[in-house]
Amino acid sequence: MTIISDEDRRQAQDLLDFIDASPSPWHAVASSVQRLQAAGYRRLDEGERWTLASGGRYYVTRGDSSLLAFRLGKRPLATSGLTLIGAHTDSPGLRVKPRPAEDAAGLVRIGVEVYGGPLLATFADRDLGLAGRVMVRAGDAIVSRLLHIDRPLLRLPNLAIHMNREANENGLKFNKQTELPLLLGSSDDGADAQFRRPLADALGVDPGQLLTWDLVACDTQKGSFWGADREFVANGQLDNLASCHAALSALLAQEDDAASSLVALFDHEEIGSESAVGAGGSFVGDVLQRLAAACGLDGEDQRRMLAASYFISADMAHGWHPNFPAAYEPCHRVLVNGGPVIKRNANQRYATDAASAARFLAICERAGVPCQQYAHRSDLGCGSTIGPIVAARLGIPSVDVGAPMWAMHSVRESAGVLDHAWMIAALANAFES
Ligand code: ZN
Repeated sequence: MTIISDEDRRQAQDLLDFIDASPSPWHAVASSVQRLQAAGYRRLDEGERWTLASGGRYYVTRGDSSLLAFRLGKRPLATSGLTLIGAHTDSPGLRVKPRPAEDAAGLVRIGVEVYGGPLLATFADRDLGLAGRVMVRAGDAIVSRLLHIDRPLLRLPNLAIHMNREANENGLKFNKQTELPLLLGSSDDGADAQFRRPLADALGVDPGQLLTWDLVACDTQKGSFWGADREFVANGQLDNLASCHAALSALLAQEDDAASSLVALFDHEEIGSESAVGAGGSFVGDVLQRLAAACGLDGEDQRRMLAASYFISADMAHGWHPNFPAAYEPCHRVLVNGGPVIKRNANQRYATDAASAARFLAICERAGVPCQQYAHRSDLGCGSTIGPIVAARLGIPSVDVGAPMWAMHSVRESAGVLDHAWMIAALANAFES
């Protein structure tokens, strides 16, 4: 029997609520901002001059889909540096095209592009809604509005087995251009009008006011607990909103006012991070430079600050699946509900080295949390994270860690209740030390 405390359960429920409220990267940032503001964090604008106070707590967003939050401690930045935890707000999936509505023999199909590397087949036969942001014309101005249509609006019905006889032998495949468009309804009023109407209704505007959008086809099913002892969670976007939630929870739980801490939540990890808002962009470097300057550090001391800092890149790990033992490196099986995972790759697909890994092991030990170590099979290509990118940009000793999960990049992923609680405890400990 898996023993789960009330506090573990509460943290996992809070994670599911966070994900349900964050169906797109723009929502993930809005949900995070809500929590930061409630905890007294003050908004900074990149376009204004910054005046920061020692002991202050701040956050700044870029492009509404990336966010940095930090608290300044009493210890001198030049010699103590910061502990940074990074994660990503985006998840792979289907993104609505700019002119998506197409009439197909009286039915409206919505054209989508594949974003990142989703398990496409899992999107079939799901109750899909729409979420993201819409640019709305309001008089002479253009306003960005968050949109979340949280009911089954779109669907990708499978082709019946009778017309796809090899589906169970060859796998479920979709041509990305011709077979992925999502069905919306009848095109009696015109395909474009049929697409715009639910958006305009949800935003309370005229269809003609809708200009452009960044929209995700999102799952409408809420997060759930499963398993004999309800020891697992299932939801979309556990990769990587679970790490965003763990990092934020750790930051908001920090009591020590001596240490300086920063949480970085980036968009665009799933497509390589090379963008103005991504981890490969200037965001984190810009903010660290301004933070240091506002604290009176000259160029020399800014570099000392970086040398004294430690970066934890938090992203999910592949938990061992008993049905597919051959997919895993036999000496590096990591178990769901077995504890946070340190990820290693000799080719630096992960930023971890022996020194940064030892440091994280010590953090887990102090927190009383079990810790596992993962390496991918040598004959399989290894994924990557924001870890090596941020490490290269900033030159900070870095480690890649994450909670183990199943079905990464499925529309419905699974992870462990205990792992999430342990990850929060470990990250909180990292911020205190
Ligand atoms: Zn990820």
